[in-house]
Amino acid sequence: MVATTTRPALDTVPITKLKGVGASVAEKLAGLGMHNVQDVLFHLPFRYQDRTQLAKIGSLRPGSEAVVSVEVVLADVVFRKRRSLLVRVNDGTGSLMLRFFHFNQKQVQQFTPGTKLQCFGEVRRGPSMLEMVHPEYRIQSQGAALEDTLTPFYPTTEGVQQPTLRKLSDQALAYLDEHALVDWIPPEQLQDSNMPDLVSALKMVHRPTPGADVSALMSGMHPAHRRLALEELVAHRLGLRLLRVQAQRNQAPVIPAKAELAEQLKNSLSFTLTGAQQRVLDEVLANMETGEPMLRLVQGDVGSGKTVVAALAAANAVAAGYQVALMAPTEILAEQHLLNFSDWFESLGISVGWLSGKLRVAQRRSAIEAVAMGQQRIVVGTHALFQNDVEFENLGLAIIDEQHRFGVHQRMALRNKGASESSLPHQLIMTATPIPRTLAMTAYADLDCSIIDELPPGRKPVNTIAMPATRRGDVVAGVGKAIASGQQVYWVCTLIEESESLQAEAAEDTIATLAELLPSCRIGLVHGRLKSRDKDAIMQQFKSQELDLLVATTVIEVGVDVPNASLMVIENAERLGLSQLHQLRGRVGRGSAQSTCILLYQAPLSQNAKERISIMRKTNDGFVIAQKDLDLRGAGEVLGTRQTGLAEFRIAELGRDSDMLDTVSEISDHLLSHSPENVKGLIRRWIGEERKDYGGV
Ligand code: ADP
Ligand code: MG
Repeated sequence: MVATTTRPALDTVPITKLKGVGASVAEKLAGLGMHNVQDVLFHLPFRYQDRTQLAKIGSLRPGSEAVVSVEVVLADVVFRKRRSLLVRVNDGTGSLMLRFFHFNQKQVQQFTPGTKLQCFGEVRRGPSMLEMVHPEYRIQSQGAALEDTLTPFYPTTEGVQQPTLRKLSDQALAYLDEHALVDWIPPEQLQDSNMPDLVSALKMVHRPTPGADVSALMSGMHPAHRRLALEELVAHRLGLRLLRVQAQRNQAPVIPAKAELAEQLKNSLSFTLTGAQQRVLDEVLANMETGEPMLRLVQGDVGSGKTVVAALAAANAVAAGYQVALMAPTEILAEQHLLNFSDWFESLGISVGWLSGKLRVAQRRSAIEAVAMGQQRIVVGTHALFQNDVEFENLGLAIIDEQHRFGVHQRMALRNKGASESSLPHQLIMTATPIPRTLAMTAYADLDCSIIDELPPGRKPVNTIAMPATRRGDVVAGVGKAIASGQQVYWVCTLIEESESLQAEAAEDTIATLAELLPSCRIGLVHGRLKSRDKDAIMQQFKSQELDLLVATTVIEVGVDVPNASLMVIENAERLGLSQLHQLRGRVGRGSAQSTCILLYQAPLSQNAKERISIMRKTNDGFVIAQKDLDLRGAGEVLGTRQTGLAEFRIAELGRDSDMLDTVSEISDHLLSHSPENVKGLIRRWIGEERKDYGGV
């Protein structure tokens, strides 16, 4: 689909060609990602007002916006709390008050009784009748206030007003008649035959004609909206695919599978790998043998045993003479990996290094040196691993745990750590957040995917019970009993507030009450406001069974492993999303004892909360839960933009548009194989020039 037209393309027309764009405005627009006329067309409205039709006062509802055509009944300047101008108007169906706090004498004189006006504004309930505060208005003799199309509102920035953006998009739309805008998506690829062509879609989204389905436009369900969202998703997927192509142009270490060292490690384990672990390990090993950089995501539910798979991959890399880095998002988690890896590797004569933010300067210096000199073959740590002064002698494998805390940029930072001129380290990313397939294809299009879809044998599914908060007393008694019989217990406090200090406060209240009710229990508290050193110390005490009961905020969500903990109470469970509940619950059920999770909830439950709690009771399967979570909350919530690692979308939304994702992959693959020369233009159109990391590949 190469453009056959000779008309100049819109992305070659600089924005300064538009009227009203001088150097200073151009600079501000550049801040919004607008450099040329095409960019103006792809700067899309996020909402609309309907000023195309007159409303009758008698039918106005508070909260709506409307244009009315009225006659002034009475204007009066009053001094109550504030000096204000009140203008009472009527259109024969009812009266409305216009209220101004800022006005001048000329305005007051304008509103003589009998003057005909058209006003536009938001309708509010006033003391005596409906009002508009500071409406836009026009004296009728000056022309009608009605617009031909719905009025768009654009994302803006300081010093650029809506009217400016409207004038710009007016001009840019007019350019469409004279200039070419390439539609890279072959029409036969658009399954949804409802969708208009690109130019019509843009015209509709910028200037919806009267009678257009505004609610469909606002909710993203309008075919024009969907057409653009589809193209944006294609652009993002292609961006990630290109990243991948680019990475795979590099070489990577050839790491032969089944090294002696790895076999020794495998034989030293106290268990045998599950079928799923072995299969995923084989996929990883086959990948590392080829000399092409591995870019692989290993998904596995909590407790599925991802760590040992990573360790076996590491053993092969070390045996082949390469260094391995393992990175986790928190100190607690990184330390746990350090313990496991030390346990496994040191008996084989390989020391495991440690690099975290809390090392003292001298320790840090010697750790960094050991890594740079190549004395340290395996190093575990937090994001401290990808700081600038950390260099590896020959990094062969970078392992990242709990990927959803890291974005694509961090992934690339670590990848580049081990990069020489033409060689990249292999990359293995582990996540416990199962991602439905279609979503993964778009959000992680730069990665291959392996799934550990089986739990180690003997795991008993966690028995999940829901109880209203009124039965808290019984629950506390149950906790006491469990502790008396030697079990350890988590008590999770949740608050809807994002504020860590409020969460901490609630947790402190809870621990005080629990300490009173369970005087013989050893209770610890972790929350997000503790220094990580103190948090780790308490986790460590809980792990070594010096504490019976751990009161915690949701900070314990990520991968902590305390097999002896077999009871968890989650307060206000109705406030948490499914994925979060599942992650939390995954902290129990790690040992051989039957575990229980009690969801305490505040009645009455909303329909949605009821559904969440019932799913938690019904299943322990992370993939089922993830899919449900997606249905209930949408992908943005499930993944978070940070998690997808993509630039923010302008118009698409992964959850809402998830029905298009199959089409998105088909179109992307088609474009890559049939017209790769168009791919960069499409990426640039949606992601922009600034994003050199993948827009500018
Ligand atoms: P996750 O996938 O959540 O990171 P881990 O790697 O922490 O899970 O493993 C959870 C626990 O299961 C660990 O204590 C680990 O030693 C154990 N484990 C892993 N694989 C097996 C297996 N095949 N059989 C029995 N236990 C296993
Ligand atoms: Mg883990």
